[in-house]
Amino acid sequence: MALLGNLALPCVYHFMSNYLHLGKFSFGMGDRFGHQGKAQLQACVQATALGAVFIPVWNKSNREHTFIGTEPASLRIEADAAVQALNWKTAYHVDADHIRLETVDRFIAPSDFFTIDVADSIGKPAAVADVKAFVDRHPELVGTVVIPHIAQPFSISRAEVERVANKFLLAVQDAGKIYQHIAQAKGVANFITEVSMDETDSPQTPPELLIILAAIADQKIPIQTIAPKFTGRFNKGVDYVGDVAQFEKEFNEDLAVIAFAIQKYGLPPSLKLSVHSGSDKFSIYEAMRKALAKFGAGVHIKTAGTTWLEELIGLAEAGGDGLEIAKEIYAYAMEHVDEFCAPYASVIDIDKAKLPSATVVNGWSSKQFTDALRHDQKNPGYNPSFRQLLHVSFKVAAKKGDRYLNALKKHEAIVAKNVTENLFERHMKPLLLGK
Ligand SMILES: [Zn+2]
Repeated sequence: MALLGNLALPCVYHFMSNYLHLGKFSFGMGDRFGHQGKAQLQACVQATALGAVFIPVWNKSNREHTFIGTEPASLRIEADAAVQALNWKTAYHVDADHIRLETVDRFIAPSDFFTIDVADSIGKPAAVADVKAFVDRHPELVGTVVIPHIAQPFSISRAEVERVANKFLLAVQDAGKIYQHIAQAKGVANFITEVSMDETDSPQTPPELLIILAAIADQKIPIQTIAPKFTGRFNKGVDYVGDVAQFEKEFNEDLAVIAFAIQKYGLPPSLKLSVHSGSDKFSIYEAMRKALAKFGAGVHIKTAGTTWLEELIGLAEAGGDGLEIAKEIYAYAMEHVDEFCAPYASVIDIDKAKLPSATVVNGWSSKQFTDALRHDQKNPGYNPSFRQLLHVSFKVAAKKGDRYLNALKKHEAIVAKNVTENLFERHMKPLLLGK
């Protein structure tokens, strides 16, 4: 039996501690149009006042920058301005979200958090000799693997370690290359490293996570957050769809695996899970909160589109020209439903029969529009199909250019109120404080 729980064993690797440390709880916030930085930070201010200390991290992917037509430096400017305006005294970060070797360069100067996305390399086999060397180097992964706080020890055959290595080793090697590229340009001490594997077909099981972390340690990546793909569906802007009990079991086991891998492989003590598409997953927050408390673990929650939807809610609530622009965006989205939904097929579940026609919506009051859009499952008017279609329709607002941005400025107070309330009341509070 490979008894891995023995902490007296020397660590295989020691990471220098001269990397930028990420706080225990951190909250990733995307802001597609760059106007909600203060309102988002205000949620962190309110949460901190109640003892739920979330380090704010502003994230924007290459994809989002491309769609909106912004440069990564704009996110740094927005974050700095929000921090100054609210006199935020603790740490904050700017995340180059889902970058790869070919997209990272313009992010290097303004970012201090890098989400290295290697999902595209998952499933592509690494060199045969590399896989063999990895399996030979890690006999502790073969056999009965006992991990503290996991009731049923993992039983992993050598063939299974080989299978997982064949699936993930190349991706981890790619992550190593991207990490080295950033480190050379920026200096190892100046950034936080996340590795993301969420945008792939199948979830990673806890034993796979252990093997992946061993490979990441081999690459000497001082990883502080890892974003696996979890079991169940993490659809955009709506609640979790799946077996909550199964999610809870796997989330607990992932936390146990991470605590173990930190000790065993000398990974950074701040290593924690990153939950992508982490907004609006209300039915699993309680399970997450309990598991985090049980392990004394931290977490990074990554959100983005939920804030864009609050902008629309705020505009609709404002009435007049605000409501009008929200209706125009929906009408245009309805005309392009298939085109807008196609790229997001694996992360949305829209029932087209439940989408009201543009004519119907054009007759709606502010209240009818916001009832349908706001994520309040107790409201009989709430319509998740309507919400998901608008979630993927932010390009329509981008096309409106200054007209949309001017509406945000004009209705700043009511939009900001919705943005803050959403992150604070519906996300931060249930995640750390319970309902
Ligand atoms: Zn992601």
